[in-house]
Amino acid sequence: MTAPAPRPLIFAADLVLPVSSPPIRDGALLVENGRIAAVGPLSEVGRENPGVEVRRFPRHTIIPGAVNAHAHLGFRRGDEPEGGSFSRWMTELISRLPEKAAWTPEAARNSAREAIEAGTTFMAESSLYGECLPQLAESGLAGTVYAEFLPFELGTPEEAVDFIEEKVRSLREGLPSRVGVETSMHAPYTVDPESARLAAQRVREREGRLATHLSESPEEYEFISKGTGFLADIFERFAQVDWDGKGDSPVRYAESIGLLWPGTIAAHLATGVSGEDIGILARTGVAAAHCPRSNEYLGCGVSPVPEMLGRGIRVGMGTDGLWSSPSMNLFEETLFAVKLHGFDGEMGLALATLSGGGRGDAGSIRREPRDGGVGGGGGRRGGGDRGRRGARV
Ligand SMILES: [Zn+2]
Repeated sequence: MTAPAPRPLIFAADLVLPVSSPPIRDGALLVENGRIAAVGPLSEVGRENPGVEVRRFPRHTIIPGAVNAHAHLGFRRGDEPEGGSFSRWMTELISRLPEKAAWTPEAARNSAREAIEAGTTFMAESSLYGECLPQLAESGLAGTVYAEFLPFELGTPEEAVDFIEEKVRSLREGLPSRVGVETSMHAPYTVDPESARLAAQRVREREGRLATHLSESPEEYEFISKGTGFLADIFERFAQVDWDGKGDSPVRYAESIGLLWPGTIAAHLATGVSGEDIGILARTGVAAAHCPRSNEYLGCGVSPVPEMLGRGIRVGMGTDGLWSSPSMNLFEETLFAVKLHGFDGEMGLALATLSGGGRGDAGSIRREPRDGGVGGGGGRRGGGDRGRRGARV
């Protein structure tokens, strides 16, 4: 797997936006071994790295790669289930799962390529038993594949969680260092409470990360609070345990079974997220993945992102998959959010990049230079900025 290290290069543009620190006019970045090793004014980066080739991009701006905080690679464009309601969409999706298996790998390859061409460098991908890991790893993307599991296929909750833990361990073998594998608790209506609780406990014990869909739809809210509606049937089929509603919101339910801690990414949070729920999300330190185009397509409402940011919750952007979203372009997703919430461009860029990378929350973006910026970069620098070492190109 080890190829000879590529020679270092300096990329220079009229403007460099590190996002974690103020814009740099006539800026440059040094790339060594596929990683950004320095960011600063071209005059300084060039002086400190004599003899390194400079590639100039006049009238261009260099920005960080997009971080997709919630995506599914294994769907394709053109034959998506009809939108408008989550239950109708989900019914069609489930009915087509058998035929989908034949084209999932090709869809995953195409989705990954589309994401890369749109400037994505990192993706949190969720797929059943991590089935899209090969395509993510081959694509060149960095990312984490969150392996979803269906406990009803796997025996008791203990057996199901043993299986998924072993699956995560085995999927990690032989991967390039840019790719990781973690566990996904798919959703409260497909995983029974005991399996979800045990899975989260095991992930937490090994200091891993957990992804989950949470408070996505009106149907989910009704199912969690009252135990009725369309998802009661889905739950009966997938989770196969008694359920008569918790009288609680999905967020409170998730907290009650130990799903919420700083290692958790909760996707969607689009329906019925109250001020009290936001307080729980803030207190438990959960990160949120905002997928506004998917939420609109499925009639799921608008996530209270400004309020979450105001409470210091980390929010990143997610495209979801091509059966609920028109593209894998994270910047298009973010522009949609910018218009939806009335954000400015600076906030949008932070949501698409730094915030999704978990290296700061967009709500704390400042406009003044400062030391020790949210990305660890520091303010104005004299080149050789070690704080940015490790950021991907
Ligand atoms: Zn999703």
